[in-house]
Amino acid sequence: MFKLKKEGFRIDVDTLKSRLTYKIVMIKTDILIIGAGPTGLFTVFEAGLLQLKCHIIDALPQPGGQCSEIYPKKPIFDIPGFPEVMAGKLVDNLMEQIKPFTPGFTLGERAERIEKLEDGTFTVTTNKGTSHNAPVVAIAGGLGSFEPRKPPIPHIRDYEDLGVAYIIKDPEVYRNKRVVIAGGGDSALDWSIFLANVASEVTLIHRRNEFRGALDSVEKVQRLKSDGKIKLITPAEVTGVGGDAHLEVLTILKDEKEFKLETDHFIPLFGLSPKLGPIANWGLEIEKNAIKVDNTLDYQTNIPGIYAIGDVNTYPGKLKLILCGFHEATLMCQSAYKRINPDKRYVMKYTTVGGVHGFDGSKKEAPKAVVKPID
Ligand SMILES: Cc1cc2nc3c(=O)[nH]c(=O)nc-3n(C[C@H](O)[C@H](O)[C@H](O)COP(=O)(O)OP(=O)(O)OC[C@H]3O[C@@H](n4cnc5c(N)ncnc54)[C@H](O)[C@@H]3O)c2cc1C
Repeated sequence: MFKLKKEGFRIDVDTLKSRLTYKIVMIKTDILIIGAGPTGLFTVFEAGLLQLKCHIIDALPQPGGQCSEIYPKKPIFDIPGFPEVMAGKLVDNLMEQIKPFTPGFTLGERAERIEKLEDGTFTVTTNKGTSHNAPVVAIAGGLGSFEPRKPPIPHIRDYEDLGVAYIIKDPEVYRNKRVVIAGGGDSALDWSIFLANVASEVTLIHRRNEFRGALDSVEKVQRLKSDGKIKLITPAEVTGVGGDAHLEVLTILKDEKEFKLETDHFIPLFGLSPKLGPIANWGLEIEKNAIKVDNTLDYQTNIPGIYAIGDVNTYPGKLKLILCGFHEATLMCQSAYKRINPDKRYVMKYTTVGGVHGFDGSKKEAPKAVVKPID
């Protein structure tokens, strides 16, 4: 390895080469997917069946979108064919399913700018300068960048990751610990129920007496309260946090009086404020923080060649559900195929008939029937 030395600045040739490559390289693909949530991941599979290559950009360091970032250890009950599947396991399965189609990943980078070239293709550049070029862009950006709503409690930021968290990533962190959850929606209720069997003490604080979550969850919380497994403090608010190196105590305001509550963890679950981020400035038609698409055909946006699928889009009757994202991805890929191969005719084949032919040479096929000669 050569060493360059100039005016006290020292850099080895490998590092120099990698830096140069970083600037020059243009990642080319058939479908450039923005967002590695469940919708973006499944797009790779559907595109692969059509022999289209995909590359995915995600601002997060790992794939899975909301499933990995917000609720990896929660079971999902409405994925067809899976009576119950952990969100993290669903992501693992999707990664396994798309493996034969060898997608490329640019992780930990945010798609920042888009440019339409003269040949009709798009170049998307990230905040770290990585450039990607494709004839089709599929925006599967979900809620956009994750920004939890933080309560306006003085000094709360000093205790972030020191007892205060806005997202539960690993419930095991709370095993045999005292936990206070604040909020009145599904997340606050569901996590209180879940942690009742993990933490040594769960206290749920809400500023109203009524909860906004699913009736079933509210009833479960009531039952756990009667069994002494959850403490409920309503209507009340957390107004202060304290402790030396780690969170130790909260100040609670109830009936216009303040009192202290000792705890190990405080988890305010006030939802995520959706922020489309840079995509909002790409000239796409936006309605209520979501991208308007043509749902009568192919989930294309007002810019031909740019599609929006999954939680990020909106159309009459839209439901932000994983299975809807899967459906949208499937139809979108058919349209992308026609755009990329205008002269080819595609005849849809069931996977049971056509099999799955990976780009890595792998093949999955139903065994062919052996017809024996008739004597
Ligand atoms: C607590 C909770 C429970 C849920 N339970 C269920 C359930 O039981 N059943 C169900 O069907 N749904 C459920 N959902 C909703 C479900 O998680 C979403 O519908 C699903 O995640 C949407 O998938 P997606 O791929 O469209 O978007 P997301 O999962 O939001 O992924 C989008 C990805 O895009 C990335 N991104 C955004 N902008 C950029 C950018 N500019 N550059 C790079 N990357 C970008 C983000 O980082 C993110 O990783 C639940 C959601 C929550 C929060």
